[in-house]
Formats: sequence, C-alpha cells, structure tokens
Amino acid sequence: MNELNKLLQEAKSSVGQGWWPIIEKYLQQMVELAPEGEFFFKEKYGTLRMRVYGKALDHEKLTALEMAAEHESATVCEKCGDPGRLRDDRDWIKTLCDSCLAKETEMNIIIEPNFWVKLKTASARKTGGAYSDWRAAFVGKEGCLSFRYYSKTFQFEYYLDGEEPEDQMISGRIEHVEENGDELNIRTNNSKYAFKIIKKTPNEDTTAYYAYLMNKE
Ligand SMILES: [Zn+2]
Repeated sequence: MNELNKLLQEAKSSVGQGWWPIIEKYLQQMVELAPEGEFFFKEKYGTLRMRVYGKALDHEKLTALEMAAEHESATVCEKCGDPGRLRDDRDWIKTLCDSCLAKETEMNIIIEPNFWVKLKTASARKTGGAYSDWRAAFVGKEGCLSFRYYSKTFQFEYYLDGEEPEDQMISGRIEHVEENGDELNIRTNNSKYAFKIIKKTPNEDTTAYYAYLMNKE
C-alpha cells in the first residue's frame, strides 16, 4: 500500500521546490488511482515526470494526470515557483523564470567591431564631474561581451576571437544597463559604453537581466 506522505517526500526530494505545489496538486489523486503502483519522480528534458507503473484503477485517468503535471511544470520555474518557461536553447534544458535564469547563466553578447566609450577624465573622476566626449575605440574584429556576476561586483569583459579574455578585460561596477533594439548602453562607475548587438546568448533582455542582478545586491 502506498503511503501518500512518504511518496510526497520522495517526490519533493527529487526535483526543485518550485514544483512542489504541482506535486501536491496531483499526487494524492494519483495514489488513489494506483494504491499499489510503483511511483517514479524526476526532472527530464526540463519538465516534471511523475510516472506510475503497475496496476491502476483507471489507467486513462492516471495517464491524464501524469501529462497534466508534466505540461504544467513547463510553465513554472523549477527553482522558485514563479511563472517560467522551458529554456531549451542552451547546453541544458530547464524550466526557469527570468530571475533564476540570470543566476544560472552568464550572458554573452556578440557586438559590432566598433564600440564607443565615454570616459571620465582623471580630474573629473576625483570631483565626480561629467563624462568627457564619446571616443571611438576601434577594435576591427567581431568581439564578445561577457557579463557575469562575480564576487558581488559587476564586470564585463570584451575580447576578440582567439585572444585570451584577460587581455581585454573591462572591469567596473555597472551602474546602469539599457537595451533599445540592437543598441546596448552600459554605464559603469568610470565609463560609458555603447554597443551594437549582433547576437545574444541567451537571447534575453539585457536590461531585465541586470535589473535583477542589481536588486540582488
Ligand atoms: Zn525562478
């Protein structure tokens, strides 16, 4: 005889807690339909699998419940339970909300060869004065901007194909990120940057991504 509480525990320990309400919603009905069935719980291809093998009072109904739980899990963040969606454009597949996705990933942005930098002069920096005019930094090759949340400091680095990232590191505390169409503007504590985006991986909104990271501070 299956014990609901024991199965609940087993199910919950098998997947992220964002999905626990889904488990609670379906498990009792499933146990009632298959009191002697063998239950399995796991995450597979980004969704929740609650599967029952063996005898059941109504196999059709049981299958419908299995499918309902699976479909529902594709819309709920496995980590926190907020509305989420299946992310299948990466090395891994998971159902996550935007916030949890930001925690999971580093954002890489392919930008145009030329980028523009606005720097504060040394004296302006001391007095908290204005930024100087835009200066063009001609890079000449396609590069990659890589954002990361690292040791509570926001950094981004720019590097060229085939070169070590360390060589091209731009480091600074990011204070503002704004994305408008294919234009990306970033202000750090000492510089301003404007980039034209060619491609983003993951293809998420950069403004939202950084708003989340800043709130986390
Ligand atoms: Zn989440």
